Amino acid sequence: MTDALLASRRKTRQINVGPVTVGGDAPISVQTMTKTDTRDIDATVAQIAAVAEIGCDIVRLAVPDREAADALPAITEQASIPVIADIHFDHKLALAALESGVDGLRINPGNIGGEANVREVVQAASSNKVPIRIGVNSGSVEKELLAKHGGPTPEALVESAMKHVRILEDIGYHEIKVSVKASDVTRTVAAYRLLTKQTDYPLHLGVTEAGTLIAGTVSSSVAMGILLTEGIGDTIRVSLTDDPRQEVRAGLALLRSLGLRGPGPTVISCPTCGRTEMDIVGLAAEVEAGLERYYIESPAAPRPVVAVMGCIVNGPGEAQHADIAICGGKGKAALYVRGKHIQTLPETEVLASVLKQVRNWQA
Ligand code: SF4
Repeated sequence: MTDALLASRRKTRQINVGPVTVGGDAPISVQTMTKTDTRDIDATVAQIAAVAEIGCDIVRLAVPDREAADALPAITEQASIPVIADIHFDHKLALAALESGVDGLRINPGNIGGEANVREVVQAASSNKVPIRIGVNSGSVEKELLAKHGGPTPEALVESAMKHVRILEDIGYHEIKVSVKASDVTRTVAAYRLLTKQTDYPLHLGVTEAGTLIAGTVSSSVAMGILLTEGIGDTIRVSLTDDPRQEVRAGLALLRSLGLRGPGPTVISCPTCGRTEMDIVGLAAEVEAGLERYYIESPAAPRPVVAVMGCIVNGPGEAQHADIAICGGKGKAALYVRGKHIQTLPETEVLASVLKQVRNWQA
């Protein structure tokens, strides 16, 4: 079904963000951004580990000042996925970031104080083989372009991005990725469609200031879903006012829904009702997160369907089409394997037992 929905992928140039290839026929990568204070090395490293563990491909972090730049060597050394430094205005911070071993820079070359500064940054990026993302969003369009286009229109976003692109091209740099994020679906889709007519650099998709978990996931999924079905997009971020793990989960789910990522865990869970006597919402989320981690470690492992049901009245019947099912009761739960009741467990042991059943699953 998804094949019929998807137009063939747009041909873009390929760049490398550390070990992750972006563009061309490389898999579409999922990004997020840390939300810790970058100067807090331990917290930032822990957050990078948390998003890497659930399948994030690339992580970006804000580098607003010198202290944040000074934290980068320790962070990049401990990060297991490529790190992109997000820098505005100060080319010295970009140089410091490049020295610290980051795998990518997000910087708009028109905003770092003239050609000499751009050349210096590009030279350092080039010798470290580090790509630069030009990231224009509706809040960063230059005043003159806002006046010319009557606001942050798709045309204004694209003209701004291409202006920055040309600054890099004029000095011979082509390790570029581009984004033109608006804060709503219509303008975001229009801007990326327009951008594809002007450049073949790989594109990073996103809706800026998308919102909270549900509103942001929905608007990001609609905008990026439209673009991805048109073959547009090489890397994505679902921006949310929430934990970055939620951004990663939403991004992966979006790609999976279009068949652009391998399958994740198949957890079915009941919506819960007045019969529920256990925390089924929490359990279903924990089972899903545990399986997500397991399949990242063991991608070739068999993937049984796991059902998390809220009661022993209707749960067993509703779980018949699952391979492994848990039906919650008061302080305990019944475990079913291939439709057969094999054990009744105390609530505290349910998660570990389900994960063990999956690990031992023989296809
Ligand atoms: Fe309610 Fe039980 Fe059905 Fe869950 S399985 S929705 S708890 S009846």
